[in-house]
This record gives sequence, structure tokens and C-alpha cells, in this order.
Amino acid sequence: MMGTHKHTWMPCCKDATMLAEKQLQHQRLSLGQRIGLRLHLLFCIFCRRYVMQSRAIDKYLGNQTPQTEITPDESVKLQWETMIAERMKK
Ligand SMILES: [Zn+2]
Repeated sequence: MMGTHKHTWMPCCKDATMLAEKQLQHQRLSLGQRIGLRLHLLFCIFCRRYVMQSRAIDKYLGNQTPQTEITPDESVKLQWETMIAERMKK
């Protein structure tokens, strides 16, 4: 079901990650959007993992004062992901 609109009541992966990003930025979501996001995360392991990582990064960055502005770039996220994974091992 990745990236398809088979179920109209459920956001696709693109929509779900977009909603998750909004939530991370403390933007207000409508009730329908929140339910859609929750439902999607129940069924979709990819987005669930993505949201968990984004929250971890968000929390991590919140405790730091980054020298440079972090761009929402996939490769940057991947770097953070690896860094956080390393830290969690200890
Ligand atoms: Zn998804």
C-alpha cells in the first residue's frame, strides 16, 4: 500500500510523513488528520519508523545548540540516525 491511494480514508505514506512533520513542528492538525495519521502508523512500519526517528532527532537537536542550521535533507537525517543509533548502543 506504499504510496497508493487504495484507501481514501487513510493518508498515503507521503501524506502521513507530511502530517507527522507538521506535528513535530507543533502545527495544529485537524481531528481527521490526526486519526488518519494514527491509522496509517498502525499499518505502516515504514512511516512508524520514520516518525520515531524524527522524534528522536527532534529531541536530540532540542538538547543541543547546532552550529549550522539543519536542512530537512534525507542524507542529513540518515547521518543523525546513525549517530543516534551509535549513542543508544552505549
Ligand atoms: Zn506509510
